[in-house]
Amino acid sequence: MTYLRLALPTPLRRSFDYLPPADLSPEQVQNLQPGLRIKVPFGPRQLIGILLELSDTSAVDHGKLKPAIAVLDQHSLISPHILKLCDWASSYYQYSIGEVLSNALPTLMRKQAELPSYSETRWRLSTEGKGLPAGALKRAPKQALALQLLQQHSDISMAELTSAELGRSHIKALVDKGLAQTFQSHSPVSSVTDLKEAALTLNPQQQQAVASIDHQHFQCSLLDGITGSGKTEVYLQLIGQCLNAGKQALVLIPEIGLTPQTLARFQRRFHCRIATLHSGLTDRERAVAWQQARQQQAAIVIGTRSAIFTDMPALGIIIIDEEHDGSFKQQEGFRYSARDIGIKRAFELNIPIVLGSATPSLETLYNAQSGRYQHLQLNQRATGAALPPLQLIDTRNSPLQNGFSPQVLSAIHGEISSGNQVLVFINRRGFAPTLMCNSCGHIAQCPHCDARLTVHYRQRSLRCHHCDSQWPLPSHCPDCHSHELDFRGIGTERSEQVLQQLFPHTDVMRIDRDTTSRKNAMQDMVDEVHKGQPCILVGTQMLAKGHHFPDVTLVVILDADGGLFSADFRGPEKTGQLLIQVAGRAGRETKPGQVMVQTLQPEHPFLLSLVNNNYQLFAQQLLRERAVLGLPPFGHLAIIRADHSSLAEAEQLLQALRQHSELHQHPQQPQAQCLGPLPAPMTKKAGRFRAQLILQAETRSLLHQRLQHIVAIAEKHPLAKKVRWSVDVDPADMY
Ligand code: ADP
Ligand code: ZN
Ligand code: ZN
Repeated sequence: MTYLRLALPTPLRRSFDYLPPADLSPEQVQNLQPGLRIKVPFGPRQLIGILLELSDTSAVDHGKLKPAIAVLDQHSLISPHILKLCDWASSYYQYSIGEVLSNALPTLMRKQAELPSYSETRWRLSTEGKGLPAGALKRAPKQALALQLLQQHSDISMAELTSAELGRSHIKALVDKGLAQTFQSHSPVSSVTDLKEAALTLNPQQQQAVASIDHQHFQCSLLDGITGSGKTEVYLQLIGQCLNAGKQALVLIPEIGLTPQTLARFQRRFHCRIATLHSGLTDRERAVAWQQARQQQAAIVIGTRSAIFTDMPALGIIIIDEEHDGSFKQQEGFRYSARDIGIKRAFELNIPIVLGSATPSLETLYNAQSGRYQHLQLNQRATGAALPPLQLIDTRNSPLQNGFSPQVLSAIHGEISSGNQVLVFINRRGFAPTLMCNSCGHIAQCPHCDARLTVHYRQRSLRCHHCDSQWPLPSHCPDCHSHELDFRGIGTERSEQVLQQLFPHTDVMRIDRDTTSRKNAMQDMVDEVHKGQPCILVGTQMLAKGHHFPDVTLVVILDADGGLFSADFRGPEKTGQLLIQVAGRAGRETKPGQVMVQTLQPEHPFLLSLVNNNYQLFAQQLLRERAVLGLPPFGHLAIIRADHSSLAEAEQLLQALRQHSELHQHPQQPQAQCLGPLPAPMTKKAGRFRAQLILQAETRSLLHQRLQHIVAIAEKHPLAKKVRWSVDVDPADMY
């Protein structure tokens, strides 16, 4: 007898056995390939599962097994490589294989939908157009350019026209003249090897970096290059080599970085189809991109976190840009690190992977220092510009004017009058982080969370940034009815208002989650900045990442202290990275830049090493601290989180897990340490009380041994039916 072993989209951490559908012959059953979608009965419901393997045996009694309903596909949708990767991720992150696959595959594939076949509108020369000489249509330069593109390439897409700064009207004019025609393309673009835009001449360090990558073997390399050092150019040239060898390239970038600019930069360079995968796509677009990658019709995939699972049969290189970025770790449900899965994937495929950053994570830096990763360094800006000097502004004794010190205001004034742009960074959105009653001291708290409510003045609302609930801004104190309500502290909205009052003739633009929620809003603002008029940009970390603003000469960091001294062990690392990244926006081209950092702790050693623009020194300080405490990368962590409407119940489950897992442990054998149950740092969130158990071990295998044990107990524990619990391996934070 042959059994079908399936992954089903349920939270249970196991596979499920079924009998083959009754209408299949034994021979047909033997030919079923892993990766096929199969519809099965599951309790009262029907689910779509994915075939993991055929098996001759089953742990379940034959009589209790049900037959599957139908096999949905002729050919399997996922390569064995991706199935294996998901299987590995499922056991590494202790998450159900069915749910891992659900995360990895486009949503459409999980429904019983026929997958959309894709097509793309492209243009080519008509017979008449083919007769025109090169350099025709001189009197309409844009049309001439479009014609030239058509003469150079067999056919072109809208994206390619856009990257040549042409619009639909220009190509339409050629169509109207009978010189070009449009058609629907279902096939790969003919040539992927010719460069559209010439590659830059690499400087010696870039050259060295490119030459150090061996395309034939697995190797993880850290491309450790200061902001503006030309990391992207290194990626582009590595990808070029990869395409020349007939292979595909996968590039991961942080969520925030996926601006049309990034895409345009790749599109300008390569005449090949580039598929993008990010959260802004519809299900259909996602499925199309997935298929293009899988059928090798897209040679390059650029995407955010979940793109790491894209099936690419000829994958030749993986690049993770801004590898330190928090968005590569999914923080809910399947809590995976796309960077770490990328490394595993490259290892399995025996291909190179490049992790790029100006501020590498401590884990990656440590791996590079200890020789596990190749350490490639770029320590000069590619344009020849100097890194901007950082200056600490001691705000302990100087009177702040709505959050700004006099030195900072006069520096802003100076830059604006010289026609430059200024960037003001404050990592807090909203108008003010606190609403306080001056008569009785009442502070507006979220009723569902251990958190203060943020004032959003323009919307006249109070909002919780942790559970998203909101209320109208009150006119009087709910406790003492006084009208003396005071907005304490500064957020982006308030800084914007203050600056606009102080600089009434200058454009002040705010860039944060509230002002960029509209589609294209971010891009519109970025375009505006690129026009080069003097302006002041105020924003959160959205401004920090990846942008290249040539006219920004002054960066102001309003409050450096918040995260540096936070309770979370990664707080200082994250804040340091953010400061260096924000500072890196200044003086990127011909105009020299400067950075001013307001702080209450100007003597702190962390800040002093950052001020010298010495991320390396800063990172070494942090690494020494981590070593003493046995924290990552010197030890390995996992958190078991539990939440419930009562804290006691959540803690009770964790206590039981801890005790049971200790019962079976041999006292002489080394084992992972268990800390807790403890209330989570933010104990109450969205109306639920949260507790956690922290596992810490010197080696991954010890960590995983104990973790597996705990998960096995939890899955059967009666309390686990009402207490929600989850596992986070290599947590990004302790909250
Ligand atoms: P990073 O990705 O390290 O922040 P970029 O790749 O964006 O840096 O490069 C910063 C600037 O330097 C860009 O304007 C880029 O065109 C330019 N650049 C990069 N490499 C070179 C080079 N070899 N020669 C001249 N300019 C370069
Ligand atoms: Zn009051
Ligand atoms: Zn809340």
